[in-house]
Amino acid sequence: MKLIFLGPPGAGKGTVAQKLVDDLKIIQISTGDLLREAVKKGTELGKKAKAYMDAGELVPDDLVIGLLKERIARPDCQNGFILDGFPRTIPQADALAAAKVVVDKVINFNIADAVIISRLSGRRVSRKTGKIYNVNPGGIPMPPPDMPKDELFQRDDDKPEAISNRLVVYRKQTEPLIAYYTKKNLIINVDGNRDLGPIAAEVKKALGVK
Ligand code: ADP
Repeated sequence: MKLIFLGPPGAGKGTVAQKLVDDLKIIQISTGDLLREAVKKGTELGKKAKAYMDAGELVPDDLVIGLLKERIARPDCQNGFILDGFPRTIPQADALAAAKVVVDKVINFNIADAVIISRLSGRRVSRKTGKIYNVNPGGIPMPPPDMPKDELFQRDDDKPEAISNRLVVYRKQTEPLIAYYTKKNLIINVDGNRDLGPIAAEVKKALGVK
């Protein structure tokens, strides 16, 4: 099964994908994670991508398309995958089609800006484990009270200036993909304004997974 998770930043795509991979026996591919890994390792791609990411801009299509194609060619993708955060532009979607990737369904997360802002501004990441917490309520665990303050950090693109830019970028560059995949009859809409547990349950039901 090959799925695309579409929706604004903070819609819960990554968290819901993690809840589904075991049940579907497929893997999650997050281009955001792949890019952050490249930045951390200091690869050529990472060096080029960093400034765009910190500002909440999209990384240029050619870089992301190359990265994604390389990833889906690996053997662990044979059973299928959830693309989380790709495609984010029409040219990226065209590149996927040109690579003969047959998409089964596109899950579209609908969510209000106020909910997005609360989730993104509250997101904190553990330096030690990479685990994600949220200081605002919404179904993601709060950081444990005994966790040392300096273990947690906030992503640069979760800071207020970058959040508003990411929303603008989403509406302009990514939202047109809803019409693109609606034409192909692939869209399943889910209400992303709820806690993540019920959202994951709804997605499973829509896909016919128990
Ligand atoms: P979120 O979904 O919370 O915005 P991601 O982790 O998916 O965060 O992405 C973080 C950043 O990585 C994006 O703001 C963008 O700069 C870059 N990025 C991720 N995926 C893509 C993509 N498909 N095309 C261009 N840039 C991307």
